[in-house]
Amino acid sequence: MLKSSSECVKVVVRCRPISEKEISEGYERVVDMFPERGVVEIKNQKNGEVPKQFTFDAVYDWNSKQSDLYDETFRPLIDSVLQGFNGTIFAYGQTGTGKTYTMEGVRSDPERKGVIPNSFEHIFSHIARSENQEYLVRVSYLEIYQEEVRDLLVKDQTKRLELKEKPDVGVYVKDLSSFVCKSVKEVEHVMTVGNQNRSIGATNMNLHSSRSHAIFIITIEHCELGPDNKNHIRVGKLNLVDLAGSEKQKKTGTVGERQKEAIKINLSLSALGNVISALVDGKSSHIPYRDSKLTRLLQDSLGGNAKTVMVANIGPASYNYDESLTTLRYANRAKNIKNKPRVNEDPKDALLREFQEEIARLKSQLETKSLKRKKKHRLKDEIENKFIDEDRNVDGEDEGEGEEEFLKEQETKLEAEWQAIMNDQNLITEEKQKLLNETQKKQVQLKKEQEARDKVISKIKTMQSKLLSGGKNIIDHTNEQQRALEQRKQEIAEQKRREREMLQKLDDQEETTLEIRETYSSLQQEVEVKTRKLKKLFAKLQAVKGEIQDLQEEHSHERQELEQTQNELTKELKLKYLIIENFIPSGEKNKILSRVTFDEDDDQWKLIPLSQVNGLQQLTKRPVSAAGYRRPVSEYAKLAAAMGGNPRYKGENILQVELDMPSRTTREYDAPSVGPHVRAAVDAALRGEEDVDIDASVSIFQTDGHVRASRKDRTMKYSRPKSWKRPQFEVPGTTSHFSQFRGLVPK
Ligand code: ADP
Ligand code: MG
Repeated sequence: MLKSSSECVKVVVRCRPISEKEISEGYERVVDMFPERGVVEIKNQKNGEVPKQFTFDAVYDWNSKQSDLYDETFRPLIDSVLQGFNGTIFAYGQTGTGKTYTMEGVRSDPERKGVIPNSFEHIFSHIARSENQEYLVRVSYLEIYQEEVRDLLVKDQTKRLELKEKPDVGVYVKDLSSFVCKSVKEVEHVMTVGNQNRSIGATNMNLHSSRSHAIFIITIEHCELGPDNKNHIRVGKLNLVDLAGSEKQKKTGTVGERQKEAIKINLSLSALGNVISALVDGKSSHIPYRDSKLTRLLQDSLGGNAKTVMVANIGPASYNYDESLTTLRYANRAKNIKNKPRVNEDPKDALLREFQEEIARLKSQLETKSLKRKKKHRLKDEIENKFIDEDRNVDGEDEGEGEEEFLKEQETKLEAEWQAIMNDQNLITEEKQKLLNETQKKQVQLKKEQEARDKVISKIKTMQSKLLSGGKNIIDHTNEQQRALEQRKQEIAEQKRREREMLQKLDDQEETTLEIRETYSSLQQEVEVKTRKLKKLFAKLQAVKGEIQDLQEEHSHERQELEQTQNELTKELKLKYLIIENFIPSGEKNKILSRVTFDEDDDQWKLIPLSQVNGLQQLTKRPVSAAGYRRPVSEYAKLAAAMGGNPRYKGENILQVELDMPSRTTREYDAPSVGPHVRAAVDAALRGEEDVDIDASVSIFQTDGHVRASRKDRTMKYSRPKSWKRPQFEVPGTTSHFSQFRGLVPK
């Protein structure tokens, strides 16, 4: 049974207490709140005009407690999420008015805990009390800063994520991590990690948090038996959004990067405003969700499939008047947005279904394995039943739980086998060893099987532990009491809401002209009643007139600002045109123009790769002018470069660096000067025995001399003193064949 009826975005206003600082600086409170009627009044101190009045679903003044907001406004929404609706809570308002206080608060103090930590407890206590249902809770945490999406739960905080859209899922963040949580403690831990990561990326945390949007996402899936006796999975997604500060960024007066940054910071918020306006006025068919990351991501929460609560936070002091008024007007518009929430049943991307299927698969895998094994072992037992008597009764099919026993039994059996072999005296050692080895092998195999089985079992256990189911503490007394208390609180909140509605209706009636046509007992009475009425209506008329004037002023102011921005942008555009027209060849410009496309997802112009434009051929062909060069060079430049001189035409190596030759560190070799007859003695000693040939002719000596010279060259390189002369052997056959002295000792 899917409920699908339209309902309005619920808008509540919360005003924080005036701070010590504001009091000491002499500021006064200009905000009045009437929680019983859901009315806020704000008066302008400067001109004594009548206070401006706004009516909301509920208003919370400076005395309101976190639990008041939770029980009256947020609890019903979280309950819906637990039933499978999508829910979103926005905190909107100027920086320092209590957005973070409302969303997160002080987590360590139960009194000051915000809606996020309170919702954790709510969700898990609901699960604990449920019966016959399985739950799966997972959380993600992200931040949008300057139109970039960052996952706050991953290690690498430099990574930026993209938004994608699928017809069956809608808009989602690609690669966003999510953590399955089993308890309040686990979710709190995840949140702490996220918050730490948030401050890591920021240099000035206050500035950063006032300019970024933080979104904490809790997805709750649960499985329950439908009326058709089948299991159905319902998925509720809760977005908890702490928006950037709504105050207008001060105009820096600079063009270019800084201005772009300022535009980006506020882009998501102004887009949010535009989306709300477009949704409310009912005339526009186009809702500009795609204008910013935030509005795209929260598309469902604004006019779509979700229940939405917006908390507008304001400050009470007089110096915040303008911003508070803007916030109240913004919130006043938002309450007219109509959503169409419905229960999300059996969506395609339900993780719970995947978990259940995986568990079933693992279980059946375990079962078939054990069956096979059992059969195998039994067969083996029958064949190899040599050493022990089998007294195990084989009685048909054992159940899965007997598996453990079976493995144990196998183990003891192998142990016994081992012992039997050891004790058997008849076996020869060799045979014994062989048998022992075999048994050992079997034991190892068995161990492996057991390990594999343990692994699968532990996997099943971890997966099952993530699926939460209640019903355990159902008889718990305190639990019962708490439940009753919560129910009572809810009833009171409902009562309050109804009273407020009635009062609001009464107020409305007073303002209408119904009574005017009534008959009166006397003329006097008629005059009195009508005068009273007239006064009231006149006051109302004045208020409306004032409002119209205010709005007109605001509009014209906004228009002026927009015009100014437009002028600045046009100026910048003209500069770019000037540069393009004068310094970029038109051919190149046209080429680029033919390649660019606008990427809607990234909100940027992109160049299509050349290979996709003209096919691969273009890519492989180098420009003709660039043959042999690293870059295209004109003929003129080539000529000028060849002539040298002008460094302008030196494409590269403008600095000509000569090779740095190392200076010489060695000297020529100078032979040592040796006395002439020492030399002669050395020379003679080096002469081999074969040199002394009685019949040696001159030619023999010459060749030999040549050979020896070269040997000497190699071994003892010294130049022969010029005075030295080879001994002459003129007359062969005489004693004078021998030289005057031989060896080192002269004869
Ligand atoms: P924002 O997130 O909108 O910039 P904060 O939540 O940081 O503002 O609030 C600014 C300061 O005001 C904090 O010190 C916070 O404790 C305090 N504050 C805000 N709202 C309340 C409240 N309702 N009661 C008490 N203190 C509050
Ligand atoms: Mg904040």
